Amino acid sequence: MCAASLYPVRPEVAAQSFTDEASYKAMYQQSVINPDGFWREQARRLDWIKPFTKVKQTSFDDHHVDIKWFADGTLNASYNCLDRHLEARGDQLAIIWEGDDPSEQRLITYRELHEEVCKFANALRGQDVHRGDVVTIYMPMIPEAVVAMLACARIGAIHSVVFGGFSPDALAGRIADCKSKVVITTDEGLRGGKRVPLKANVDEALTNPDTYSVNKVIVCKRTGGGIKWHSHRDIWYEDLIKVAGSVCAPKEMGAEEPLFLLYTSGSTGKPKGVVHTTGGYLLYASLTHERVFDYRPGEVYWCTADVGWVTGHSYIVYGPLANGATTLLFEGVPNYPDVTRISKVIDKHKVNVLYTAPTAIRAMMAQGKAAVEGADGSSLRLLGSVGEPINPEAWQWYYENIGQKRCPIVDTWWQTETGGILISPLPGATALKPGSATRPFFGVQPALVDNLGNLIEGAAEGNLVIIDSWPGQARSLYGDHDRFVDTYFKTFKGMYFTGDGARRDEDGYYWITGRVDDVLNVSGHRMGTAEIESAMVAHPQVAEAAVVGIPHDIKGQGIYVYVTLNDGVSASEALRQELKAWIRREIGPIATPDVIQWAPGLPKTRSGKIMRRILRKISVGEYDGLGDISTLADPSVVQQLVDIHRDMR
Ligand code: ATP
Ligand code: MG
Repeated sequence: MCAASLYPVRPEVAAQSFTDEASYKAMYQQSVINPDGFWREQARRLDWIKPFTKVKQTSFDDHHVDIKWFADGTLNASYNCLDRHLEARGDQLAIIWEGDDPSEQRLITYRELHEEVCKFANALRGQDVHRGDVVTIYMPMIPEAVVAMLACARIGAIHSVVFGGFSPDALAGRIADCKSKVVITTDEGLRGGKRVPLKANVDEALTNPDTYSVNKVIVCKRTGGGIKWHSHRDIWYEDLIKVAGSVCAPKEMGAEEPLFLLYTSGSTGKPKGVVHTTGGYLLYASLTHERVFDYRPGEVYWCTADVGWVTGHSYIVYGPLANGATTLLFEGVPNYPDVTRISKVIDKHKVNVLYTAPTAIRAMMAQGKAAVEGADGSSLRLLGSVGEPINPEAWQWYYENIGQKRCPIVDTWWQTETGGILISPLPGATALKPGSATRPFFGVQPALVDNLGNLIEGAAEGNLVIIDSWPGQARSLYGDHDRFVDTYFKTFKGMYFTGDGARRDEDGYYWITGRVDDVLNVSGHRMGTAEIESAMVAHPQVAEAAVVGIPHDIKGQGIYVYVTLNDGVSASEALRQELKAWIRREIGPIATPDVIQWAPGLPKTRSGKIMRRILRKISVGEYDGLGDISTLADPSVVQQLVDIHRDMR
């Protein structure tokens, strides 16, 4: 392997940073040697109603996985994100909202956001939503989505944000799993100039009998587009706000009471409702936001994620607002109206920190330098990346063109389940290597194990595990603690298994190699292969399906589906198109297959597991080196698939 290039910390960056190399080392040591002392001290950054006496009470033992932090303390997340800032920075901007259409923007101060949240919190109470109730939020990237989240937090309701790009079926599944009482949505969404029928999707989702728990749908007006109205159930957001009082005392919540649920992309079938609680999560989101991005008061910070993903929760909403930051909320997409959009928004709002995903970077890179044509970009100080390993070529392009060789890049590795960033450079402390997420954050103890669970030391590759708890860690899967234990703590006893593989180099830097099983990452949206496969198999003419990702210049990965038709059904181009449309409808446009290949049979092990590595090779035309196929139940299917693939080219 060739030596990676190294970007040392520039002295002027170290000078302005919270953390330099020496303080990183000292703090890291302290955080792992004495976690109680370290986190007790860090927890002072939050405002507690009742101070905690206990810090860490955690067990990764698979017979009784139990994770509690600050358990006897009480606090309110919305108070920490709003009220406590009012005195010092009530008139500072909390949210800069940039609409899908570049001519639309809204500027919202902490005082204004506080008032709106209090009103909507009262409105929710008026709709009989109380502590512990689950509220589903299915909204575009508008300030009211943030208001809805914080209003839930204010009254102790648990929010479950569902990405606005999900189909009615996907939405219904998530509502049914958590039995939410209320759904908050908009008439329509707007992305890249196109309208998204959110309210119509909710209507359709609620025709599913499993969503019976929902008794109210609150609709916020975004486009004014025509929608169907069910007067026993639907209420306008605006009507509620008009009559709601603006005083709402924040509910005193136990540190371990749930703040939100968030469904992951579900690579293993049924999506997992990851549970995050109040105290540890908020502390961890806030501390990582400050240290990883070196956030300074008054700066404009922009994370381009959607609030439907955990990145949006921790690094658009909770982390930045807990820190009194100005957070930019972007409704649109990077290539609308054209590829200069990101640069234009940076210049327009004088963005200091940009946090985005490799897929967005690759989409800009595909246009050469057009994305930065005419851009100033001088406000930027720091860049971040998240979501998948960033390929060194994209890193380089990002560094030179967006960062103008001046801004460090923090490549942040973490997961829905981790609540916040676990492995990342700290800009003033860590020399960068393109493609490496580098070193652990305070209190995080990553390790590599072989397939038997033996720890591997030194420079090596293996399964990435975390050997002790950190405050931002998920506590459970909603309604299914056994599945939580099985998924994360059974594979390697006594450790949290991330599901990812990693390499550690001679400097102790981590390089994430991707997940150990498989999941697709299409334009930054992660999708389980199982979800697409199940949807495909649900088609009356399909017997079986297997999905693999293929390299795609813009999307990062494209979707390649092998389909076995039912006996007697003949393959045709019309059916191929029908199946593509079917997936679009069942899951959403993002899941539309790029290629469908007919498969008389699938390569399976004797125990019935599909061998994806073989399918992956065939899909890109690498017929040699398919590896050992002798363990297949029927090795002859491989040659059949190769022949069909050859004919398709
Ligand atoms: P599911 O668990 O249901 O399959 P998911 O893992 O796709 O869903 P997320 O929690 O959003 O959902 O994604 C976390 C995963 O994303 C990580 O486990 C890792 O594979 C990948 N990832 C995130 N950030 C990085 C990064 N900076 N470098 C490499 N991989 C990353
Ligand atoms: Mg995952």
